[in-house]
Amino acid sequence: MIETRELSKRYGSFTAVNAISFKVEPGQVLGFLGPNGAGKSTTMKMIAGFLAPTSGRASVAGFDVETQALAARRVLGYLPEGAPSYGEMTVREFMDFMAAMRGLAGDAAERRIDDSVGRLHLEAVLEQPIDTLSKGFKRRVGLAGAILHDPQVLILDEPTDGLDPNQKQEVRSLINSMARDKTIVISTHLLEEVHAVCTRAIIIAGGRLLADATPAELEARSRYHQAVSLSAADVEQAKAALARVADVAAIEVDPQDQRITAFPKPGRQIFVAVSDALKAQNVAVRELALEAGRLDEVFRSITQGAGGKGVRT
Ligand code: ADP
Repeated sequence: MIETRELSKRYGSFTAVNAISFKVEPGQVLGFLGPNGAGKSTTMKMIAGFLAPTSGRASVAGFDVETQALAARRVLGYLPEGAPSYGEMTVREFMDFMAAMRGLAGDAAERRIDDSVGRLHLEAVLEQPIDTLSKGFKRRVGLAGAILHDPQVLILDEPTDGLDPNQKQEVRSLINSMARDKTIVISTHLLEEVHAVCTRAIIIAGGRLLADATPAELEARSRYHQAVSLSAADVEQAKAALARVADVAAIEVDPQDQRITAFPKPGRQIFVAVSDALKAQNVAVRELALEAGRLDEVFRSITQGAGGKGVRT
């Protein structure tokens, strides 16, 4: 549904997006992850047809976003970063305007507006100018505009930015409910969001694509993958018991909360052996957890060195 090939954007001598290639299939929710300035918004703008690439191509539902721009835009909903333009319009005027832009009229327009307004809970602010709304409401108005024509493909630039935790949860549920029959790309710098909504994640930094994997595959690259963490009344006693487990490679104690983490030797599983060793030594353990891996640590290790910003050539 979405394909980019060697997509690049240069501003003078500065390369903001550097030969990025990927594909997104129907039903996938792709998370675009990267530090500020990585090139996420620029890439999304190019796919959405709002910015011409310097080189490379992008297509949506098989339509080239440059040479078949109208057809590509018809199947696509785009939420730009920040607040919607036309801040002087009321929410109702904005939705009417978006419907007209999409060629919707009469009953069909009314039905689609009611549906989008209902999904984003905008009924109470319909007659308010967008400029007077809170950041969270502005974001929801933008989202309602993006889904108005029930597009097959959604490109959402930081969809939960500015929302409070409850609103974030609601927007994530909305994305999940739409994911079944749409192709969705979201950008985020929130790793919890990747867990909550994404079936796949692409990490970019410095304009380059550095990883393309499922959240679970990324976690598996973490030092914490298959590690066992626990809290014990007697830390020294627990450490001594863990040290007896043959496949434990290292033991660390968090200086803040005294939580102990035992790291396995490569490819080894230690949960059962650790649990048995603690029991055998009568160590009083409050909780014992198997770690999936820490996405934030993987994200840092992948993006560090690549630099947040693009490269000068
Ligand atoms: P992200 O969305 O990952 O935070 P952006 O795509 O917004 O990153 O920006 C990527 C890089 O391109 C940044 O270094 C930004 O300063 C630069 N950039 C974006 N737009 C322009 C522009 N119009 N002119 C020059 N540089 C730009």
